[in-house]
Amino acid sequence: MDAATHVMNPLRKIIHIDMDAFFASVEQLDNPSLRGKPVIVGGNPLKRGVVAACSYEARQFGIHSAMPSSKAVRLCPQAIFTPPRIKRYKEISDEVMSIFSQFTEMIEPLSLDEAYLDVTVNKLKNPSATRLAEIIRGRIFSATGLTASAGVSYNKFLAKIASDLDKPNGLHVILPDEAVSFLDTLAVGKFHGVGKVTEKKMANLGIRFGRDLRQFSKADLLLHFGKSGAFFFDIVRGRDDRTVTSTRERKSIGSETTLDQDTSDTKEISDILYYLAEKLEQALLRKECCGTTITLKVRYHDFITITRSSTLSSPVLTAQEIFSEVNRLKQTTEIGRKKIRLLGITVSKLSDRNLRKPVQLLLPFEKKYRVFEHQGFQK
Ligand SMILES: [Mg+2]
Repeated sequence: MDAATHVMNPLRKIIHIDMDAFFASVEQLDNPSLRGKPVIVGGNPLKRGVVAACSYEARQFGIHSAMPSSKAVRLCPQAIFTPPRIKRYKEISDEVMSIFSQFTEMIEPLSLDEAYLDVTVNKLKNPSATRLAEIIRGRIFSATGLTASAGVSYNKFLAKIASDLDKPNGLHVILPDEAVSFLDTLAVGKFHGVGKVTEKKMANLGIRFGRDLRQFSKADLLLHFGKSGAFFFDIVRGRDDRTVTSTRERKSIGSETTLDQDTSDTKEISDILYYLAEKLEQALLRKECCGTTITLKVRYHDFITITRSSTLSSPVLTAQEIFSEVNRLKQTTEIGRKKIRLLGITVSKLSDRNLRKPVQLLLPFEKKYRVFEHQGFQK
């Protein structure tokens, strides 16, 4: 079934899977002494830092992700801080994603611990998305020892909301004929895509729940919220045609150029390579992805063409990152000694750039500090 058919089909079967308190749960899995305790994965509270994730025990104290670690300590002095281990989380994430592929190839990861699956057509030939969601949750638990929550519905918007409703270790289904009445009583702040600012703006217009939002015409919503207005108009009616887009469908992004004149001028070549890297940065941004393999293509004046590739340990997305790797690859070519006719750069092994988000969040973190308890913690 092709993508177009999916868009037109009102009875798609979408599952949104979300691992429960993922980073914190992995820490509790690997270190049994942390189980049942308020665990915070994140920055050292003695320095600046934020909560990357926290266990359900920590959430009971009002702690949530992206909160400053110092505030988390005030809310819960006995919380146990632990530095993030992204490699380990990625390892488990890969395992979970491979379980998804036992069911469908239409998988769209949103981050390390979350993905949409389109199971309208699935490898088990099981017509019940609810049953499939249960099987998936079971397989995740047997393979990893971790729980996941699932939301099942006929579009992405509703499936994502549903997965949040019975967390942790829950399953929630929103059927097509229940959607509108369900959205009626849902606070607009819970709508995915309605952030804090929009929520406030809606409150000023008297919009607190789905039923309030539905009173507004499309024209009015466009007026107040710009392009998003059309999205709000549709979703509050349970309409969302966005397809589940597998990142695997995009194999590579490349950019190349034939020079006006063959050259061996290293400065000129360097400038062209930076220009190509910038074009790639923009293409990656547009496609919302990043890549780990960089390939440099060089065609010499005599039409001999060579390529040099390297695969990095973490994905690149900026021109600077691409350029610095290309500079390394350049050393293994005859650039500077032989005249060049064409240059090209390709980024492949693409993935959703959201996967990089947790890494970015973690950048300011102290790498080396011990797991420490906050009993007796002094500022
Ligand atoms: Mg999660």
